[in-house]
Amino acid sequence: MRFVKLSPTKANTWLDCPRRFYFTYVDRRRVAGSWAHFSYGNAVHRALREWFEIDARDRTPALAEKLVIDSWSSDGFRDDDQSRQWRDHAVEMVTAYLDDLPSNLEPVATERTLAFKEDGFVVEGRIDRLDDDLHDPSSNALIVIDYKTGKLVPSEDDVRGSSALAMYAVMVSRALGRPCTEVALHHIPSGEVITWKHTPESLARQVERMGAIATDIRRAEDTWESVEHDEETFDEIFPPKPGPLCGFCNFWDVCAAGQAHAARKMPWDGLGELGPDSD
Ligand code: SF4
Repeated sequence: MRFVKLSPTKANTWLDCPRRFYFTYVDRRRVAGSWAHFSYGNAVHRALREWFEIDARDRTPALAEKLVIDSWSSDGFRDDDQSRQWRDHAVEMVTAYLDDLPSNLEPVATERTLAFKEDGFVVEGRIDRLDDDLHDPSSNALIVIDYKTGKLVPSEDDVRGSSALAMYAVMVSRALGRPCTEVALHHIPSGEVITWKHTPESLARQVERMGAIATDIRRAEDTWESVEHDEETFDEIFPPKPGPLCGFCNFWDVCAAGQAHAARKMPWDGLGELGPDSD
């Protein structure tokens, strides 16, 4: 039996659009160009990681500004003016977020890659931040934190239903051997923190769901390897699933279904008016 290697992103790509999954993970097509909202999100994530690598006594607003500026890339922005405007916004946002954190906060880890194995598949992922559960230090529990830089404040349903957060919690408890059922989204633009406490049953359900996705992927890849490649089998095994993200899809240029569904977006269109639409 083919062993399936999954990440929460890979699983979501499969669910969102099997055709995009094919281009990304089976054919591994190179992607040209980049999106401004990714440049923005990456700079914020990197600055927040590096902040905790600096001695606590040196963590000042000036340092926060420097970390964002040093992490910044203009890739995908319309021009230098737009890039500078968004960089200033990122500096303001990161500084305000860090200013609100307890001054003695020392995460257990930042951008930590972990994995867990099940029968026939493995799930791996990179966790933005892991904090000690300070509500109950005797429990030795950890809290999973994921940063969000998009425009919309996530809802409690977003946190509760996030398979990525649930998978991270399972990775932590299995790989690090510490209890972990609490997960949180930190929305950097607003400073809002939305948390959810899983139960062993809700985590088990998410693992089971991941297993079902792994089975579907295995079946698709095995079938693809064993049949003659023509348009009909391609449509059957990796069907295009047009949706709201087609205009932002890296493979829009080679996907007739996506082109029929949505116009191609410009590399800076994901930024929106007040903030980016994705992280
Ligand atoms: S353009 Fe749309 S339908 Fe085509 S691969 Fe991308 S997401 Fe799927």
